[in-house]
Order: sequence, then C-alpha cells, then structure tokens
Amino acid sequence: MDQPTANIVIIGHLDHGKSTLIGRLLLDTHSLPNGKLREIRDAARELGKKTELAFLVDQLKEERQQERSIETTQASFRTAKRNYVLIDAPGHAEFITNMLTGASMADAAILIIDAYEGIKEQTRRHAYLIKLLGIQKVIMALNKMDLAKYQRRRFEVIKAGLTKFLQDLPIAPFATIPISAKEGENICRSSLRMKWYKGPPLLQALNRLPLDRKKQIKPLRFCVQDIYQLEKEKVVVGKVVSGTIQNGQHVMVLPLLKKTKVNLIKIYGADKKRAYAGENIGICLQDSKALRRGHIIAAENNFPVPLYSFKSNVFWISKEPLRINQPFLVRLMTQEVECVAEKIENPIDSSTLKITKGRTSELKFNQAAKVILNTKRPLVAENFSFIDELGRFVIERENRLQGVGIVNNV
Ligand code: GDP
Repeated sequence: MDQPTANIVIIGHLDHGKSTLIGRLLLDTHSLPNGKLREIRDAARELGKKTELAFLVDQLKEERQQERSIETTQASFRTAKRNYVLIDAPGHAEFITNMLTGASMADAAILIIDAYEGIKEQTRRHAYLIKLLGIQKVIMALNKMDLAKYQRRRFEVIKAGLTKFLQDLPIAPFATIPISAKEGENICRSSLRMKWYKGPPLLQALNRLPLDRKKQIKPLRFCVQDIYQLEKEKVVVGKVVSGTIQNGQHVMVLPLLKKTKVNLIKIYGADKKRAYAGENIGICLQDSKALRRGHIIAAENNFPVPLYSFKSNVFWISKEPLRINQPFLVRLMTQEVECVAEKIENPIDSSTLKITKGRTSELKFNQAAKVILNTKRPLVAENFSFIDELGRFVIERENRLQGVGIVNNV
C-alpha cells in the first residue's frame, strides 16, 4: 500500500488513558489480529479482570516484547487516507528515547488529559518536551468525558486552563476534542452524546493533519550508519536525512572535510540514480577508506562546518544534575562525542514554566536551560529549526539517558 505513514506519539499524565486510547483506535479501525480480542477476553476472565482496553494493549505489548523486534514494539492502524504508527511513551525517558531513535520520530502528538482530573504535572512536562523536540502538530484529547456525563461545561473549563498553559509555551493545538476512549465516543465518528461539539472526531482530525514533506528541498545530509564490505565493493549504509543524493554527485565527508564522489546508489539491493530525504540506502563512493559510522555526507559545495562548541537548549531528566565542566556523551544521530557544559543560563522549571534569570552552575531534574557545550571532537550538527534530525541530541552518562537537547547555534 503506497499510502503515507504518520508517526503519532500519545502522551499525557499517568492513568489519563493513553493505553485505553491505543486499544480503542486499534479496535475501532479493525486493526487487531483475527481472534485476538476473544483470546485476550478469555485471558482476562481467567485472571479475574475486566477486559479493559488498557489490559488488551498491555497484553499486545508483552507479546511484541517477547518477539524482541524493534519494528513491532509499536502499534499501527490504517485509515482510507493514511497509515498510522503509534509511538508508545510510557514515561519521560522512554518517550525521549523512542522519539530520538530516528525511525519513530513523531509527526504529531496526541496529548491526552483526563477531563475529570485536569492538567497534571506530567501533562505539562510532556507538553514542554514535545515543544522542545519540535513537534508542531498537537491534538488535545480531553478524555473520560463519560465520567463528566458528557457535559460541555467540564470540557470548557479544562480547555480554558489548557489553552492558557499552551499559550505560554507556545503550542497552538490543531484540535481540542472531548472523547471517551473507554466508550469510543468521538474517536472514529462524531459522538451523539456530545452534539454540542462541532469539531472533527479524533480520527478525522488525524487524517486532516498536514504532513511535513519539505525535507527534500533542503540541502543534502546523509548520515552514515554502517559500512559493509560486499565482494569487491564497500557499501556505505545510512539515511538521507534531507535533500537528494544522486549518482555522480561530488560530496564532502564530514567531519573529515574530505571530498569524494558517489559511484552508485542502492535501494533494497537495486541500483538507483537518485535517493530522497527519508530513504535508507546504500551508496558506493569513489573513496570510502576513512569512512565510518557517525560520519555525515553533504554536497561538496554546501556543507555544515563541524563544530567544537555550540549553543543549545537542554532538558534534564536525571536526578543527578548537569554540572559545568563535567564530561558526558552527546549522541546526535549516529555520532557520539564527549562534551562538557561551559555555561548554563536561565533555567526554567518545565512544569511551572518559571524562569530563574541568569547563570547557574548546575541544571537540575526536570529543568531546561540554555547551555553552551564544548565538544572534544568535531560534531556535525545543524540548527534544529533548519534540519531537525541533525539538530536534536541526547546526553548520556554511563550508558544512561540524562537529558535531551536541541542545537540553537544562530
Ligand atoms: P495510561 O496510564 O495513560 O495508559 O492510562 P490507561 O489507559 O491505563 O487508563 C487508566 C484507567 O483509566 C483505566 O482503568 C482505564 O480503564 C480508565 N479509562 C481510560 N479511558 C477512560 C474513559 O474514557 N472513561 C473512563 N471512565 N475510564 C477510562
């Protein structure tokens, strides 16, 4: 099926209904494998549980985890217009890791809020994070409207509080929809219980989201993932992050600043003349001797200068603070570079959005700040606003995720 695919991340406070909504979307779009619902109902009965949609999603997740395939840790469904992949985001760290593993970077987010409980800490933090990570398209789903007897007033009260918070970020929601994930109201079709709501149901709102496909007109950036020796030739495997790459093109390998030429492009084993942004390909270069994972290939006459220092916005999620001049690892696409923070400025609390003006010596748990980073080896990056994939990174210490950042090197 040659339909476009949209990656959607579902976020929100614990227990506000993320799993239930995923289950509902799979169920109502008939995306569950044959007989799966009955099988899980039986399992639930044995365990003495009600067949809740959240239980269904947990079961599916467990099965997928047992298969141990990265590809299948996500749920997917299809409408007449598009395919959707739902990115699971149980918590902060998982959310960031899943978002930054490239393939599953979200095109849009559904922020789910319990209409009964209203906005909570995690609602705010997740909203802050999606803003930081540059997800522009956000649908607000005010869930559990059944508990509020589908009353318009409840919806309006929560919506008003939410609108104010979103204005401060700022995020302009694409739609704000009253739903009941449990009862299936306003999910696939307009709810008869909430006739006062004149907007689209969730699925229709998703289908109306414009997808950004502008990356092709940006300059070429190709990120090297691996190098394989196939018989006589070396194949450089990676992703065209932006722009196009073609046979015979003169290119620059970064950060080596070494010129070479594209001899051959392979997609799924077949030779091609050209490849586009978003495609994973193999290329053979005239000279690939010094090439390795983490290198970036750009056009010979249009390439980013490798950086030894850059400005960023960092969001810190570790209990152990980020301190000036303490080394850590920055991962940006397939690059890994040791860095230190030189300057931390204007920290902001991600749940209250309160800013403490001025310089500080450390960045604490759930704070974000402007940070100047110095790298030990040259890093190839772009301003996040220019080419987002080359402008976002994670920070690790001892293999543990500590924070996430975007490059703002104007
Ligand atoms: P998550 O932690 O955000 O994934 O939340 P879950 O999907 O696990 O839901 C938490 C609880 O809220 C479960 O008991 C659900 O059955 C319940 N729940 C979810 N959506 C609705 C809804 O629309 N209405 C009602 N009444 N309960 C819901």
